[in-house]
Amino acid sequence: MMTLLYQSTRDANNTVTASQAILQGLATDGGLFTPTSYPQVDLDFDKLQNASYQEVAKLVLSAFLDDFTEEELDYCINHAYDSKFDDVAIAPLVKLDGQYNLELFHGNTIAFKDMALSILPYFMTTAAKKHGLENKIVILTATSGDTGKAAMAGFADVPGTEIIVFYPKDGVSKVQELQMTTQTGANTHVVAIDGNFDDAQTNVKVMFNDQALREKLAANNLQFSSANSMNIGRLVPQIVYYVYAYAQLVKTGEIEAGEKVNFTVPTGNFGNILAAFYAKQIGLPVGKLICASNENNVLTDFFKTRVYDKKRGFKVTTSPSMDILVSSNLERLIFHLLGNDAGKTKELMDSLSTSGQYELTGFDTEILDLFAAAYATEAETATEIKRVYDADNYIEDPHTAVASAVFKKYQAETGDEAPTVIASTASPYKFPVVAVEAVTGKAGLSDFEALAALQTLSGVAVPPAVDGLETAPVRHKTVVAADEMQKAVETYLGL
Ligand SMILES: *Cc1c(COP(=O)(O)O)cnc(C)c1O
Repeated sequence: MMTLLYQSTRDANNTVTASQAILQGLATDGGLFTPTSYPQVDLDFDKLQNASYQEVAKLVLSAFLDDFTEEELDYCINHAYDSKFDDVAIAPLVKLDGQYNLELFHGNTIAFKDMALSILPYFMTTAAKKHGLENKIVILTATSGDTGKAAMAGFADVPGTEIIVFYPKDGVSKVQELQMTTQTGANTHVVAIDGNFDDAQTNVKVMFNDQALREKLAANNLQFSSANSMNIGRLVPQIVYYVYAYAQLVKTGEIEAGEKVNFTVPTGNFGNILAAFYAKQIGLPVGKLICASNENNVLTDFFKTRVYDKKRGFKVTTSPSMDILVSSNLERLIFHLLGNDAGKTKELMDSLSTSGQYELTGFDTEILDLFAAAYATEAETATEIKRVYDADNYIEDPHTAVASAVFKKYQAETGDEAPTVIASTASPYKFPVVAVEAVTGKAGLSDFEALAALQTLSGVAVPPAVDGLETAPVRHKTVVAADEMQKAVETYLGL
């Protein structure tokens, strides 16, 4: 069997295997490692409808990560998707009025980042062993709120790793912030920056691409990798739950095998929806991929005009994990839209960094037509939380509500009646103030008052991820300017 190669989106000569791509995180030319062909996967839903999440994971992961052995993948899967998820289904599918919500928040940190970050540390240590790597791996991560905590939960005290997380000081919810600043583990470091998520992500990319810094690390037996969705080891595990969700729809008789299903995804860095695109490429019967944004609606405009223009005000919203103006993974879709042309992709990405925009021309219309896009305002998002509560006695978190509101708009506009799954990316317990205010109209509650109110409203117990957060000791208090991030890294690493 041929080994699948992952190519940098900016250099056709930069190709690596899956395990190498996971270890490196980002390509040093500034691009992202991306599949240029798709593996054959036998999506037989007569069989898959009875498969466990772990079995579906094995099918998908073994196809995409084909330089891992079967034993290695079993080890990773069995350690990742175990009792740290509070539901044996791992990603349960809930039927609501007119939609299906795929709950991706049953892991350690109650956001969908756990779906991939529970397994990424196992991939990384397995890949390191495979390649006889002696360096310590330093995970550098920019977070808009959820990746940081989920990555630390996965990497805390993992031998041979160090993890440094940067988050925007005023850009995350109180619960998200406390989840990070109370993180234990001698190898974890958390830094708040005076800046927004894009500043954090840009400076992380700059450090990755800084050759002098790389050499300095190497001289100290260190090397960087990434836990952001720029790492293909984050994306591939996200393909699994789209296949799994489809299998559940077949199993419960909601659809016939082969029928097309739409997915609506609340989108920030474009990682989650890109995984759905890859699910389609291996044969999942997907109708539309509906890209839902909040008021940072750069992607909505892009799909409408094919001009990506980041030159606009950054808005802090109630769905902070989607407060992003530069969606890193869109680069991978652009690459595919341009027929996997690294030269053209690099031109557009250079234009984005020098002039703040680019226009997509000469693209594959079949790929672009797969996508629909719209955004929800803050008011529409709150109204949707209330609507779903009234209709179903179910409380969506604000990110999920953005997707759910956008889906309703899309349906009203197009009349598309295809069964639609909403990627439900966080538990409302992560954003209790917003959820409670939307349902009851009661403003001004503290996060901890809201947690109690949410329990009463929803009848769902406060999850361990946030229970006790109020009294947990804060261990990380560092705040730096955005242009001092590298200095912080060098200090932590003793460089
Ligand atoms: C990260 C995140 C998103 C956005 O996902 P992307 O893969 O970055 O597009 C949406 N909702 C929540 C709750 C998140 O944590």
